[in-house]
Amino acid sequence: MPVHAQTLPGPRTDPDRREAPVSARVRAGVKTAARAHVCFEAVSVRYGNSRALVDFDLRLATGEAVALLGPSGSGKTTILRALAGFAPIESGRITIRGQDVSGLPPQRRGLGIVVQNYALFPHMSVADNVAFGLRARRAPRSETAHRVADSLAMVGMSGYGERRPHELSGGQQQRVALARALAIRPDVLLMDEPLSALDAPLRREMLAELIRLHRAMPEVTMLLVTHDQAEALALADRIGLLDAGKLRALDTPRQLYEQPPNRFADEFLGQTNLLRVELLAHGNGDGMTRVRLGRQSLVVRAPSRRGDGYRGYWLCLRPHHLSFDPGPSGARQASEMRCFVRASEWNGSHYRVTAEVEGQPLFLEASAATVPPEPGTEAVVSFVPRVAWLLPREE
Ligand code: ADP
Repeated sequence: MPVHAQTLPGPRTDPDRREAPVSARVRAGVKTAARAHVCFEAVSVRYGNSRALVDFDLRLATGEAVALLGPSGSGKTTILRALAGFAPIESGRITIRGQDVSGLPPQRRGLGIVVQNYALFPHMSVADNVAFGLRARRAPRSETAHRVADSLAMVGMSGYGERRPHELSGGQQQRVALARALAIRPDVLLMDEPLSALDAPLRREMLAELIRLHRAMPEVTMLLVTHDQAEALALADRIGLLDAGKLRALDTPRQLYEQPPNRFADEFLGQTNLLRVELLAHGNGDGMTRVRLGRQSLVVRAPSRRGDGYRGYWLCLRPHHLSFDPGPSGARQASEMRCFVRASEWNGSHYRVTAEVEGQPLFLEASAATVPPEPGTEAVVSFVPRVAWLLPREE
């Protein structure tokens, strides 16, 4: 159901929060505003002998949605737990609205929290579940009733207040969990894998709901933990990529996807081909450069980061950027490489082709509009030079 701005819980008023929401600016590619709403400064967390988080820095601007993405065990949940006050930090500092929160218990940090398995109280009605945080804060009864109704309306669950959680589907339970988190009017919303317990159609529906809520609540800062990159790419203004307790990359989804800063980011975000190449020329000012791939020479986008004096690079190419067609722009605009086709399978919308170029594997997702060359034959693969990027190999 549609949500109207006036039915949304408003943010708490706080002089520090008068700056304009930055979501739109971040989406437009502008870097985060100087003043952070939530700030992690060199935060480390240790569980027993192992460090789950190492010198973690992150500044979230007001209204910004940041997704933390990374393999299982990389420290994503630990970041949320540290911010929420459930995991003590070993060193560093976390501030919310400029205030150091290390001395504050979880319930006084003004956070809404949504977890994967809903964590609704089974013996309480939906309305009582949503009212829980308000009652714990001793909100007046009339205000509680009003906010419960507002929060349920926001997530499209008006009319379900009297039901028990077991009378709801998984998707509906997660909506109630979201309403419960929003009822206290948090200015920071933490979500830990909020969609992963749902099946695929419900996940898509809830994702659309979260995107809509993010737009409808420009003052609410969101920190989302997910292992699903599609979720992160769709929802987040910026994505933080974690590996073994360290932040390996942080940028807008588009920038991270199109120009990953390192091999980890490149391989983690979407499928990619990494081909060993040598730099032949350092570009001629048009942003392009020439590389050698075995016996072949190709024009590609010049590296954004130069390796210190070495010439070995990975040429990164997404499978869907490769084509067996010379393309409408003609061969002069495209870079071409000769390869050997090993296998090809059709999946309805495209062909997945396995090939080999100069002894290195190459995967293509070729449009189903053209039948790819037969396995066992030689073929020319083309790509637009600007979609290819180079990463220094010595990392
Ligand atoms: P993620 O959310 O990325 O899957 P976590 O933050 O849950 O990762 O965990 C990071 C690391 O800390 C993992 O190695 C995990 O095994 C460890 N860890 C998490 N919680 C605890 C705990 N309560 N006690 C000991 N080790 C933990």
